[in-house]
Amino acid sequence: MSWEDGIWKGVPYTPGEQPKRDNLIKLNTNECPYPPAPGVEKKLKEMEFGRFRLYPDPEASSLVDALSGYYHVPSDQIFVGIGSDDVLAMAFLTFFRNGREILFPNITYSFYDVWANLYNIPFRQIPLKEDFSIDPSDYKRENGGVVIANPNAPTSLFMPLSGIREILDANRESVVIVDEAYIDFGGETALPLIDEYENLLVVRTFSKSRAMAGMRIGYAFGSKKLIGYLQDAKFSFNSYTMNMPSLELGVEAVKDDAYFKEVCGKIVATRDRVAEELKALGFTMPKSSTNFLFASHEKVPAKELFEAMKKEGILVRFFDKPILNRYLRITIGTDEQMDTMITFLKGYLASK
Ligand SMILES: *Cc1c(COP(=O)(O)O)cnc(C)c1O
Repeated sequence: MSWEDGIWKGVPYTPGEQPKRDNLIKLNTNECPYPPAPGVEKKLKEMEFGRFRLYPDPEASSLVDALSGYYHVPSDQIFVGIGSDDVLAMAFLTFFRNGREILFPNITYSFYDVWANLYNIPFRQIPLKEDFSIDPSDYKRENGGVVIANPNAPTSLFMPLSGIREILDANRESVVIVDEAYIDFGGETALPLIDEYENLLVVRTFSKSRAMAGMRIGYAFGSKKLIGYLQDAKFSFNSYTMNMPSLELGVEAVKDDAYFKEVCGKIVATRDRVAEELKALGFTMPKSSTNFLFASHEKVPAKELFEAMKKEGILVRFFDKPILNRYLRITIGTDEQMDTMITFLKGYLASK
C-alpha cells in the first residue's frame, strides 16, 4: 500500500488565464474593465497598517450589515465568503451531501461538477434545450439539490423568474441554489423569493459588477435557517474567511450606489452595441444578460479566431469541449477595447 493510494485525486477547475504580459486586451475572465468605486481607493490608502496584527471580525459584521442595508435583507439572512466560489463550495458542503444526486445543467459554470466530485456528491447534468435555454420541467425529478446559474454561464442567457419559481415549487424537499454572479447586468433577481422559499439560497459576487475580483468577496441570501446551517459549516472549517482589507473595502464599494449603477449601465450599453456589430460580421449569439457575449461565427471556427486574437494581444475564452468549442466567450471591456477587437475581427474576416 502506497501513501498515495488513499489520496483524493480529482480533476480541478481550470480558471481562465491570468497572463503576466502587459498591454493585453483581457476579455477572458469576465472581470470589470473599470476600477472599483473611488471610495475603495480612498479607504485603502487610509487603512491602518498596525491593525493587521489582529484577526479580522469572524462574523464579518461590517460587510454583512452594509449588504443588509443596501438590499433590505436582515443581517441573519446574509452569508459572506471569499468570492462566491467559497460561498458555493461551502453551500455544496453543507446542503448537498445527503447521498441523493444533485441536478444542474450540462452547460453551466464548470466549477459545479468539480465541487460535487470533491465532496463525493452524485450529480446529474441536464442538457440545455437547443437554444441554450433551461427547461424548468427537467428539474422535477427526485434529487438531493439543484443549482442554477441565472443568468447562466457561459451561455449568457437569463431564465425568467417564473422558471425559477417553477423549479422551487417542484423542489420543496431539497435546497435550491441560484447563482446570480451576473444578475447586475440583466434579468430579474430571485432575491424576493427567499421570503417564500426557506430552501432557496441566492449567491452573488463582487467580482464582476463591483469590479473587485482581486478582493475575493462573495455573499448569499437565504432564510435565517439556511444561513444558520451555512454559518455552522463555515465555523467548522475556517472562522476567518474574510480578511480585513476585503471587509473594509467591500463596505466602501456597497456605499457608492451611483458609481455601481453607472459602471453596470456602461457595460450593458457597450455589450448591446458590440453584439450588433458582431452580428454584422457574421456572428450569432444568444441574447446576453451578462457582461460577456457567447459568440459563434458562421464560417470561421472559434478556435482559429481565439488563436488569431490571442496573437494580436486580445485574449478571450475558448472552451475546448463539444458544443462549447463553436463559441468564444468575450468579456465586455471598455468601448475602446471593444473597438480594437472589432477592427481586428473586421480585418481578419475580410482576409478570409
Ligand atoms: C465568476 C463566477 C463565479 C465566481 O466568482 P467569484 O470570483 O468566486 O466570486 C461563480 N459563479 C459564476 C456563474 C461565475 O461566473
